[in-house]
Amino acid sequence: MSDIKTVAVLGTGIMGGPMARNIAEAGFDVRVWNRTAEKARAVAESADSCEVADGPAAAVAGADAVVTMVLDGDAVQSVMNDAIEAFESDAIWLQMSTVGIEAGERLAALADEHGVSYLDAPVLGTKQPAEQGQLIVLASGADEAIGRARPVFDAVGSKIVELGEAGTGTRAKLVLNHWVMGLVENIAETMALGESLSLDPKLFLETIEGGPLDSGYAQMKGKLVLERDFPPSFPLSGALKDTRLIIEAAERHGFDAALARTVAAKMAAAVDSGHGDEDMIATWYASAEERAAAR
Ligand code: NAP
Repeated sequence: MSDIKTVAVLGTGIMGGPMARNIAEAGFDVRVWNRTAEKARAVAESADSCEVADGPAAAVAGADAVVTMVLDGDAVQSVMNDAIEAFESDAIWLQMSTVGIEAGERLAALADEHGVSYLDAPVLGTKQPAEQGQLIVLASGADEAIGRARPVFDAVGSKIVELGEAGTGTRAKLVLNHWVMGLVENIAETMALGESLSLDPKLFLETIEGGPLDSGYAQMKGKLVLERDFPPSFPLSGALKDTRLIIEAAERHGFDAALARTVAAKMAAAVDSGHGDEDMIATWYASAEERAAAR
C-alpha cells in the first residue's frame, strides 16, 4: 500500500497537463506549477483536487511525490534549483521529462546531494495517450521508491516497465526514441519521395494499409502530411532535442549513430525554416523544400 497522497506536478505542457489531470482523477491531491501560469490554471480548473502553486518550492513543500515534466535537463535543473530544498524528508522525485544521459546523471547527483529519493522514469507516448492515461512509463530507481510511486505511474500509464537502477529508464527511452525518430523521418521522406516521383500522395498509405508493412504511426502522421496541417502532439523542436540526445548517448558509448545524425540534420533544416512549433512530422518540410529548390 502506497503512502502517497499529495503530488506536485512541475510543468503542465502538452504532456504534464493531462498527466496532472489524470493524477488528480485517480484521487490524489495535486499541486500544479508551470512557468507560464495560465497553463497550470487551466489544468486546475479542469480537475477536482487540483490547485495552482505560486512557485516550484511552494508546490513541492508538503508533497509526498514530485513529478517533473518540463522541456529538457536544463529546464528541470532550473526548476529544481528553486525547489529541491523544499522536499519533505520522505518525498520521492519522479523525473519523467526526457533529459538524456548526461543531464540525467546531473539530476540524480542533485537529488543525492539533498538526500532526495530519485526515480528516472521517462515516458513513451504522446498527447493522446497522455490524455487517456495510456503512457508507457520506463521506471528506474530503487525498488522501494518505485513501489511507493506505482499508483502515480498507474494514473498516467497503462504499462509500467520496471528497469532496475536509476538511469536505465533514460537509456531505454533513448533507444525507443531512436525507433520513433527514424520512423517519423522515414514516413516524411517516403511521402516526399512519392510526390517528387509524381505519384498520388495517398498511394503509399493506401498500399501498406492493414498489411505487415503498415504502422499506426505511418497512418496517423501520414494523414497530417496529406492535409499539410501539423498540430503538435510533439513539437518538431522537441523531437530534434531528443534526436540530439540519442547522438550524445551514442558518442559516449562509442556507437556510430549514422541514422540519428541524418534525422537530426533533416529536423534541424525544417526547424530553421520556421516549423519548430509544428508536429514532428513537419520534418517533411526539409524534404519538400529540397525538392522545391531542385525544380
Ligand atoms: P511542451 O508542451 O512544449 O511543454 C514544455 C514544458 O516545459 C512547458 O511546461 C514549459 O513551460 C516548460 N519549460 C520549458 N523551458 C523551461 C524552463 N527553462 N524552465 C521551466 N519550465 C520550462 O512539451 P511536452 O511535450 O509537454 O514535453 C515535456 C517533456 O515530455 C519533454 O521532456 C519531452 O521530451 C517529453 N515527452 C514529450 C512527448 C510528446 O509527445 N509530447 C512524449 C514523450 C516525452 P512554458 O509553458 O512556460 O513554456
